[in-house]
Amino acid sequence: MKQAVFIERDGVLNAVRVEKQQQVTPLTLEDFKLHEDAAPLLKKLKAAGLILIATTNQPGLSRGYLSRRELDRMHERLRKVFPLDEILVCPHDETDRCPCRKPKPGLLTEAAFKWHLNLDHSYVISDKWQDAEAARIAGCTSLLLESPWVGKIHRDFLLPNLAAIVEKILQLRANRRAVTA
Ligand SMILES: [Zn+2]
Repeated sequence: MKQAVFIERDGVLNAVRVEKQQQVTPLTLEDFKLHEDAAPLLKKLKAAGLILIATTNQPGLSRGYLSRRELDRMHERLRKVFPLDEILVCPHDETDRCPCRKPKPGLLTEAAFKWHLNLDHSYVISDKWQDAEAARIAGCTSLLLESPWVGKIHRDFLLPNLAAIVEKILQLRANRRAVTA
């Protein structure tokens, strides 16, 4: 079975505006500023044989203030810059009570089915507690970036930057190989 790294989009792969201590997701391609320095780090994970999947909650799709066409344009750009295998979106509003809006683990389990993933040996990278919670429920290892949004709930690792997170994942994989060899 394959192993994956799930990467929260907003705040990790692209910049977000912050208003009233909340992240505000970009709504147009013009406002979609990528963290391009993350690209070589993602390439390291890809080279290690991991499937790379970006995940994102975009309730603006069902609330009507984000257009699907604009989101598609943004994601086309995202795929050009980063070596992503897939981008998974929850388009629902909180009131839809869907299974895929993080902190629910639906996007992870959907990907596991499609890509034949071993979630116990997969990883979640984010700057927000919702992803750590989805990881915990799905059985993935969570690695959070230090940020105002990590909360106090369980996460496996809290690290200062993406480079440290990528090194940690490669190290965890090497240890796992040593154990199973
Ligand atoms: Zn959903």
